[in-house]
Amino acid sequence: MELLNRLNQQLRALDEQQLIRKRRTVESPCGPRVSVDGRELLAFCSNDYLGLANHSQIKLALREGAALYGAGSGASHLISGHGRAHAMLEERLAQFVGAHLEAPRALSFCTGYMANLAVITGLTAGDKEAEIFSEALNHASLIDGARLSRVKAHVYPHADLAALESLLKASRATTKIVVTDSVFSMDGNLAPLPRLLALCEQHNAWLVVDDAHGFGTLGDKGHGALEHFNLRSPYLVYMGTLGKAAGVGGAFIAAHETVIETLIQKARPYIFTTATPPALAHALLTSLDLLEGDEGATRRAQLQALVAQLDDGLRLRRWQRLPSKTAIQPILIGDNAETMRAGAALYEQGLWVGAIRPPTVAPGTARLRVTLSAGHTSAEVATLIAALNTLESIGKDLR
Ligand SMILES: *Cc1c(COP(=O)(O)O)cnc(C)c1O
Repeated sequence: MELLNRLNQQLRALDEQQLIRKRRTVESPCGPRVSVDGRELLAFCSNDYLGLANHSQIKLALREGAALYGAGSGASHLISGHGRAHAMLEERLAQFVGAHLEAPRALSFCTGYMANLAVITGLTAGDKEAEIFSEALNHASLIDGARLSRVKAHVYPHADLAALESLLKASRATTKIVVTDSVFSMDGNLAPLPRLLALCEQHNAWLVVDDAHGFGTLGDKGHGALEHFNLRSPYLVYMGTLGKAAGVGGAFIAAHETVIETLIQKARPYIFTTATPPALAHALLTSLDLLEGDEGATRRAQLQALVAQLDDGLRLRRWQRLPSKTAIQPILIGDNAETMRAGAALYEQGLWVGAIRPPTVAPGTARLRVTLSAGHTSAEVATLIAALNTLESIGKDLR
């Protein structure tokens, strides 16, 4: 069949460029030690930064949520799917980040991907002349949100505020939207949010902050990047995900109540989808309590100690550790094939580390993406450090 032949040709081309991706089936809960194909692996690749994905209290809350509310929501939020658990979660989320916003309100979503599609299409829905200013290293969901909105989108180079400023100055649009990751997912560094916000206020632009990797991990209370930088502004539109540090799933937008009402009325990725199972929202209330409480603080301190340990222990010459202080600790190798061989060699030793290639990152910047979690022990991180130092010294001869 002609159509299948064409797909197979395209897949072969990917394979020749070493770009075929493979999934592995995990048989245990998410955690530092996982079981795959009957083997126990030490995993440094999940986004479960605080080790909450398999937390006993959250699991208990999930069970309780199912008992209270059943399994499914049955409909979209605007029909009959919006339950008491969703409403309580949204209220709690608005409090969680509300110190940084004006007239804060929160709206929950099934996934961060959908929240990003919704926020960008929602903010531009009333204005086809709107313009988007998007940071070069933004997550795919922000890029796709800009595409779906069908308004003009400018991409400014990574962390280049001078370039952004000239774009903003030159723009005649009445609705301007600057969108950025707070923690860049493949590099682990932080966006210069205070200066970005100052620019946005000066040019009357929204600042949409995707805090997928900062929510729960940054700030004394785990409130995220806005707490970390101590920002407060009515120009801020905040997106947090609930499947990473929060350990469950879903996402939310928090912003001025008028922004949220606009999304409810206009954002198609919000309107035309079934609400998440209410039990998830119920479990997330427990997750938020943990994040804000002593346990969250202890877990964030443990994560920071492990980041410092990795920083001290790695002795790299050819490979390059990117300057990140977050849980995302990439090791730049460059070459696709060498990166894949390094990932495979670690895997052989029982260490599971993500090997990231283009198009997820720019050509020539393939890397190992080590992610640390408060669930790891320092002995486990020492094992990883020793393995990486040895592998790098074997270098190009790696088979
Ligand atoms: C993971 C991620 C998302 C998507 O969130 P999901 O809840 O996984 O859909 C969005 N933005 C960034 C920066 C992310 O890392």
